[in-house]
Amino acid sequence: MRLLIRPLPKEHESSQGYVLRLSTLNGFDHPRWCVPLAIAGDEKDGQRASLKVLTGHDDATLSTLRGPIFGLGLLSRGDSGNVGLRYWNTRFQRYCPICLATERYHRASWGLTFGVACHEHAVWLRDDCPVCGKSVRWTAAPLGMCSCGFPLRTAAALPCTESARSYVRTLASSLYPASAPVRPFSPQVAALKIDQLLRLTWFLGAYAIRQEAKAQKIPGIMHLECAVNMVEATAAALSDWPNGFHLLLDELGKRTSLEASGNKLPAHFGRFYPTLYKSFPEPSFSFLREGFESYIGDHWSGQLNKRNRRFSQASRDSHEWISIKEAAKILHMRTTKVRELVENGLLIGRLFATASGRKMGAVLKDSVTLTAVGQAGLVTLAEAKEMSGFSKKRLYKLLGDGYLRAARGPGVDGYPIWQFERAALEEAIRLTKGEART
Ligand SMILES: [Zn+2]
Ligand SMILES: [Zn+2]
Repeated sequence: MRLLIRPLPKEHESSQGYVLRLSTLNGFDHPRWCVPLAIAGDEKDGQRASLKVLTGHDDATLSTLRGPIFGLGLLSRGDSGNVGLRYWNTRFQRYCPICLATERYHRASWGLTFGVACHEHAVWLRDDCPVCGKSVRWTAAPLGMCSCGFPLRTAAALPCTESARSYVRTLASSLYPASAPVRPFSPQVAALKIDQLLRLTWFLGAYAIRQEAKAQKIPGIMHLECAVNMVEATAAALSDWPNGFHLLLDELGKRTSLEASGNKLPAHFGRFYPTLYKSFPEPSFSFLREGFESYIGDHWSGQLNKRNRRFSQASRDSHEWISIKEAAKILHMRTTKVRELVENGLLIGRLFATASGRKMGAVLKDSVTLTAVGQAGLVTLAEAKEMSGFSKKRLYKLLGDGYLRAARGPGVDGYPIWQFERAALEEAIRLTKGEART
């Protein structure tokens, strides 16, 4: 049955707010009285209530309403855009006092768990009444009024942070992709769909604010304060990509001591690392995985392979890491061979498999360079000493006298390590030893 007063949905209005507005305008003291009227008369079994029956507006008109309808029996339903219920605040009614003063209706973005601020007025949303101090819940009170009778539009609005404003602006533009695009973060973030952005926020925010292992369960997330913390942490992680994200990884890494986690990546990052690969498999999140991998490559100095003594402490400490793929290219070998060399300790590197089974790794650049030298059949000065039994001084004299020609070195091409072709070295040794005999 149609209601007497059937206003059209307002711009960006929430579904739940619309039902409450209909109920108030038609003189009901609770929106639940709308429910029996919303059931189509000709339906005998499997009764379903709908706003279409209630208002007579077509699906296209009603489809602009976002967010779930909850607590209203047969009229209850999920979001028309399939954004999961966990991302909507079904406990408290948030509001921007300035928006309410302009026009009294509930904006859908206020209903999102991470909708913590009004990006238009750059103020924090509120979910409380300044007079009675209670949280504003979805009750029978007309929209914009606390159940104590206080008009919420007259509550004070406090300026929000710039990062929260950037975040909610991105949130709003992904909820309404047709609106003018805003790009406070990287284009990859701006390209995320609303449910993806919310999933990412839940993940990053949860790890940033909590230390416990099961970070994906968050008590109090419906409370504004908790949501604000998660939004601020996410905005920080997404800013100046990937630098903000790397700072977050630094923080996560600090929670585990390196000694305890050894060279094992999962132990180092806890569940963050498998979750990252398991929960964000879409191509649109490749920037996230790449951000993580570049951090591993550049920053993470796990325990190095101590078996290999050829390398100075300085070069072990240097963080010049290259990927397995790059190493394979330099060495003209397959990546599987590079892995094998790392496993055998012939190259200094770290290997790990992601939760999705993807194998990743990094190799110390110096170790690759030295291996490349060995491959070219060149011999270092130390090795030449061993082969010839000559002192370093004697080898330098041979070099100076022109008996021995270096292939590479400070006097040849400026390369810091002297290197010789094996044949040339053997010839010089033979000649020198021959000379000594005569
Ligand atoms: Zn506002
Ligand atoms: Zn009140």
